Formats: sequence, structure tokens, C-alpha cells
Amino acid sequence: MHLAELAEHISYLKPDDVALVEKAYLFSKSAHEGQFRKSGDPYISHPVAVAKLLAKWHLDAQALMAALLHDVVEDTPATKQQVSEQFGKPVAELVDGVSKLDRIEFQTEAHAQAENFRKMLLAMARDVRVILIKLADRLHNMRTLDSMATEKRKRIAKETLEIYAPIANRLGLNSVYQELDDLSFRYMYPTRYRVLAKAVKAARGNRRALVEKVQDAIQSKLKDAGVEAAVTGREKHLYSIYKKMQGKSLTFSEVYDIYGFRVIVKDVPACYLALGALHGLYKPIPGKFKDYIAIPKGNGYQSLHTTLFGPYGTPLEVQIRTQDMHKIAEAGVASHWLYKTGDESAKDAQQKTHQWLQSLLEIQSESGDAIEFLEHIKVDLFPDEVYVFTPKGQIMALPRGATAVDLAYSVHTDIGNRCIAVKINDELAPLRTELRNGDRVEVITAPHAHPNPAWLNYVVTGKARAHIRHYLKTMHSQEAAMLGERLLNQALRALRAEPGMIDDARWSELLRETNTKSKEEILADIGLGKRLNLVIARRHLAAQVANGGQAHFRHQGVLLRQSNGMVEDILRFFEP
Ligand code: MN
Repeated sequence: MHLAELAEHISYLKPDDVALVEKAYLFSKSAHEGQFRKSGDPYISHPVAVAKLLAKWHLDAQALMAALLHDVVEDTPATKQQVSEQFGKPVAELVDGVSKLDRIEFQTEAHAQAENFRKMLLAMARDVRVILIKLADRLHNMRTLDSMATEKRKRIAKETLEIYAPIANRLGLNSVYQELDDLSFRYMYPTRYRVLAKAVKAARGNRRALVEKVQDAIQSKLKDAGVEAAVTGREKHLYSIYKKMQGKSLTFSEVYDIYGFRVIVKDVPACYLALGALHGLYKPIPGKFKDYIAIPKGNGYQSLHTTLFGPYGTPLEVQIRTQDMHKIAEAGVASHWLYKTGDESAKDAQQKTHQWLQSLLEIQSESGDAIEFLEHIKVDLFPDEVYVFTPKGQIMALPRGATAVDLAYSVHTDIGNRCIAVKINDELAPLRTELRNGDRVEVITAPHAHPNPAWLNYVVTGKARAHIRHYLKTMHSQEAAMLGERLLNQALRALRAEPGMIDDARWSELLRETNTKSKEEILADIGLGKRLNLVIARRHLAAQVANGGQAHFRHQGVLLRQSNGMVEDILRFFEP
């Protein structure tokens, strides 16, 4: 029975592709055989529903196959390998992508974490189709949430409201966004939802007469002005009414007694013509006009917004847009599958996403804040960051390529300095392991451990690098000074001088000459290779000779292979 239902929805596909989708359906059906949803429906009804949602956006065959198979690897004995063999690697990758998102759970209460979590999901998805499948999956689960236990409903609703609805909004999937919002609202605050829904229903009856009157007036005014237009009444979604009441402390009637209309015309000039005509029909409320055509919103939304004084002084909010703007306003990133662009190069998902971003960029560039906007979207879709969990469920953002040592330092300097090992997803791993999105990382420390110079070879964050260098410099200066003293004595002996012959007076003279604070500093510099032992030794001896000392001094060639300070030291020695 599902097969016929599905076939109806995918008639936009080529026959070969239809056959593949049907094959995926049969595979999924037999894999899920004997499994039932909480509602009592056979499990296969869920993947079919998800695939149907995606078919509404006219997504490609691969995405539909993956939608049908999205729970197969996670919940049945079928393996990724089998999916790959039967349906190809791209489909297996999509299924794998969705399963990965399923495995991470949003646990922390901290609100600030939500943004990082959204970014992590987008980062893990890589292919925007994974996100579209996941959103459709979530939408169907929300639609059927009734059969879940109350506690679980609330948790899923909260997660949807904080994570998935904002992602849908950011990708411009407006109708999905609003439905996710309202369903979450309904399960999180059942009473508030009921009261508000009832109030809206009651008010709607009272509104009908006025809505029709205004609609007719607008329609005929536009006709007089020679603008061809479709005029519809429009309602705010419940959750947005609720948010407005809360945010601005308004009463229900203050929010709801505003009437919304939408005017759809054929092109941009017609938008402005319609605007002029409407301002002639009803007086606009000053300060309420917004031109989102010239200056589009961040997610690509375009329209003219104006608020008018309607009959009896009722405020009327009107949106004016073209058909194309309307498609993008409703379906966002998915609109590029839904509506053929006529561009044959836009075949794969990555290209379509790119094309979407490009089209957003083009309309954004008019508005001047294109770069800021692109940063925002690009970070989400092609991130340079990886997101990992600490054992407490905190999400940390690190640059791509970051290792456990980077993470340790970004948590705390002491943790970085004392780390000795790491567990990634409960398994011991080398400290140099590159972290991946969604990894749970536990850094193991020991009280007397200290940084290893080898870490410098693989850390990528400036913080880790700076701290390791700092440690090596300060903690080793004592050892360096000891080494320096040995090296200096060696040099003195090579010059046939006695190490003990340099007195304190000579040392303090040298400190002045070299602008150093202490004997230890000079010795440490020698130990660390910042100064040449031979040069310092010669300086001492030269001074001794100049002062009439008895030192034997044999001129030797000095290698000028080091740069900066040392070369100067050497030159000053030869030409005092
Ligand atoms: Mn599912």
C-alpha cells in the first residue's frame, strides 16, 4: 500500500530513479519487518513519511533512498556495507550522516550551548541533504509525538525548539520552521498552547468579515492600478504570537488584532507599484515600512513590508513579493531542488547548496553586509571548526586539525601542562590524534607531568603553542644555565684559558655590555643556543687582555652561521 502512495509523490523522477527508490523501499520494509512504532503502526510507515516530505521539495533519488533507509543501519541488522553495495556509496554516506546525528544527544541545560550544538550538527552533516533528511525525520516524529510518554515528549520538544527549528529557519525552510515551532510549543506548554489556540480560533471567526472586506478592497485597487496580483490573508504561527506577547509584554489582543495580508505579483517593479497603490488606499503607519527587497534578510528572505491603517483604524500588515521571492521564503535551500533553475550544471547537492549560497550572496551584496552574512552561513555549512564534547557534556569549538593537546590547553593551561593521555569516545588514543566532530574527549592528567617539546609538532592552536613554548622556556632555564656554564667552560678551555679566572668584576662588566640582568641569564642563553659560548668566552678574554691580564688567547675563526644577536656579538668582539 505504501508503494503506490510513494509512487504518486515521486512521479517527478526519471523511471530508472523511481525503480531505485522503490527498491530502497522494499529493502527498508523487509529490514524493519516486525518492528512497530509507539503508535502501533508498522515501523516502515515512518521512513515512508520522511521520504514523502522530501519528495515535496523534489529532492533527488539518492536523498529519497537515504530517507527510506535512514533508520536501517541504526535499528536493524542491516549494515552500512550492505546499503553501499545495493544502493551505492553516496546513499550509504547519507544514511551514515543521519545515523551520526541521531547518536549525539543534546543534554546540557545551558542555553549558550544550543548555538554551538546547532553548528556542530551542521558541521557533521557536511552534505546539506543530511540536514534536510534529519529535519523531515524530526518533523514526522514531532507530528506523531502523541504516542510518547509525557517526559520524553517534553525533552524532544525542547530539543526541537532550541536546535532543529532554528536550523530550519537559518536554511530558509520557513514552513518547516513554523510547524516545528508550533509543535514544540504544544508539547512543552500544553496549557498555554490550548488557551492561545482557542483564543485564535475565536478571534478568527470575528475577523472573517473584515478580512474579506480588506482583501476585496486591495484586489480592486490593484486592478485599477494595472497590477496583476494574488491577495491572501495571512496568520502568524502560534508560537510567534506567544513569543511576541512574552517578549514585549503585550496582551493577546494587542498582538492578534493586527491583520496580515500577502500580495504576490509577477516582478520587482510590480512590488513597488503595488506598494504605491496600497498607500493610496489606506494610510501607512509611519516608521513601519521595510524594504527587504533592497536589503534582504540574512537567510535570503525578500519582500516589502508595510503596515496600514485599515477600516476602523485596524492595523493591517502587508507583505508584497514576487513569486520567486515567495518560493525562497517558503522553501529556502530546498527551493533549488523544488524549482528547476534551468542550469544543468547544478546537479549534485554540494553544487545546489553552493548555488543557493551564491544566490543569497548576490542579493546580499546589494545590501552591503554581504561579508558578515556569508561568514554566518558559511561557518554553518562549510565549517573550519570541529566541535567536541567534554566528559561533562560541554561543547568545545576548536579549529579543524586540532588534537587532544589543543583541547587540553583550551580547557585550562594546567590541564594542558599536565596532560599525559587521552580517551576519545572511551578509548585510549595518542595525544596527537586529530579530533573529529562529536568526539567525547577526556584528558588524563598527572600532577607532576609537564609539556613535551614534541607536542609543538602537532598542536594547531596559538594558545597551546604559546603555553608549551612558555613552559619550555621558564621551566628549563635552570637546566639551561647549567648546560651553559659547561659550554662556556669548554670554550674557555678551547681558548686555553682557565674557567675559574673570570672574576665577578669582569662578569658585571659583561652584563652591562650585553645588556643582560644576571650571570644566570647569559649562561641560560648559551645553554639554549641563543648566544655562542665561544663569543662570550672571547669577550671575557679580550677584556682580560685589554686589562693587562695574562690569558693566552689564540685567534680562531668564528662561524657566522647564526643570525641577529649572535652575529652582532661576534662583530662587536672583532671590532670593539
Ligand atoms: Mn527516524
